[in-house]
Amino acid sequence: METDFYYNINNIALKDFGISPEILKISEAVSEEIAPILRDIEQIAEYNQLKVLAAMKRAYLSEYHLYDSTGYGYNDTGRETIEEIYAEVFKAEDALVRPQIVSGTHAITLCLFGVLRPGDELLSATGTPYDTLLGVISGDNCGSLKDFGIKYKEASLKNHKPDFNAIKEKINEKTRMVLIQRSRGYSLRPAISIDEIEELIRFIKSIKHDIICFVDNCYGEFVEVREPIEVGADLCAGSLIKNPGGGIALAGGYVVGKRELVKQCAYRLTAPGLDKSCGPSMFSNRLTAQGLFYSPKVVGEALKGAVYTSRMMEKFGFEVSPKFNEKRSDIVTAAVLGDKDALISFCKGIQAAGPVDAHVQPEPSAMPGYDCKVIMAGGSFIQGSSIELSADGPLREPYAVYIQGGLNFAHVKLGIMKGLQSLMESGKLLNKK
Ligand SMILES: *Cc1c(COP(=O)(O)O)cnc(C)c1O
Repeated sequence: METDFYYNINNIALKDFGISPEILKISEAVSEEIAPILRDIEQIAEYNQLKVLAAMKRAYLSEYHLYDSTGYGYNDTGRETIEEIYAEVFKAEDALVRPQIVSGTHAITLCLFGVLRPGDELLSATGTPYDTLLGVISGDNCGSLKDFGIKYKEASLKNHKPDFNAIKEKINEKTRMVLIQRSRGYSLRPAISIDEIEELIRFIKSIKHDIICFVDNCYGEFVEVREPIEVGADLCAGSLIKNPGGGIALAGGYVVGKRELVKQCAYRLTAPGLDKSCGPSMFSNRLTAQGLFYSPKVVGEALKGAVYTSRMMEKFGFEVSPKFNEKRSDIVTAAVLGDKDALISFCKGIQAAGPVDAHVQPEPSAMPGYDCKVIMAGGSFIQGSSIELSADGPLREPYAVYIQGGLNFAHVKLGIMKGLQSLMESGKLLNKK
């Protein structure tokens, strides 16, 4: 039975996707090896699923909330209920969940500009922030924090972890906000776990109790059973085309945190004096709610895929982070491919296994907010969605590919096999273990 079952899967993988028997055989062994880890992931997903359902029930989410408002968007009870649900799920006082927030970078920007004032200092406690934030913080003459007289300091990581001594040294009476980036970004450091965030925030508040601790939660939602606000963060933000949109929300971002801070972010999103009460949901309420409902399950599928990805890439001799059996706090896996052609070749393989645009070849190109060319493979239903299986990386040393997402585990498996197949065919699978 077992053999027939695999035979059929392998047959279609070979016939329709050109996956070689050698890769299929290793994939089968890896699938068996990681089974116990996948069970743990399913338990976390189930817990988070109930958390979301409980919040929906408590907020009396109703059929009429799924319709949308237009124009100013006043009296949009659907939008208000969804924000109440987000606040509940993230254990926050208030939330802003809007399709007008165009990306994760935009959501984070709202938090920085909403809260910081000229003369204040921002300290990054987790080293250099995500690429697209560099322009936001210190761009020239583009309305950056720097342009508005807001200073920036950075405490570099030490052995890939927050350096408490460096953080203490860089906090002074002007330090108003500390930025903590949970996910790795385009770097080889692991995600900062919720336990580590808890310890970090406790330490920061012990030095200066009124510092606002802000967490960039992109790629982190529902990976663990707790979220940053629960461990002391004052404000937290992310993208709806990553984890919490569940692959269903068509666009948007969210901010959750202390009521007063979320209000400041709303002033920044719309206008000072206008607050959360305006902003039309247009076509977003149904899909934002449904996406949140799907999110714990989808994040679980992406995580199963991530564990498989780490083990497969390692089996073929690539350095990976995190390793398949290490604790995760984001959905990203980094694999060092070592050269430009290998990076491009692997991404082409991922693209060829996607549901949309599988016939298209991704090419490296300049992207707004990045300082070098970036290659992005996706083939997603929603443009740029990275809760859907995607692989990308900046064309710079050490030519690492960052792989994340996957609405279902089977697709991730195929994508990784196809990526490896593409490497094999371009002669880049040299030191196979
Ligand atoms: C993706 C990401 C961002 C930026 O989000 P965009 O939606 O791409 O603008 C910021 N921080 C981290 C850690 C991210 O992963």
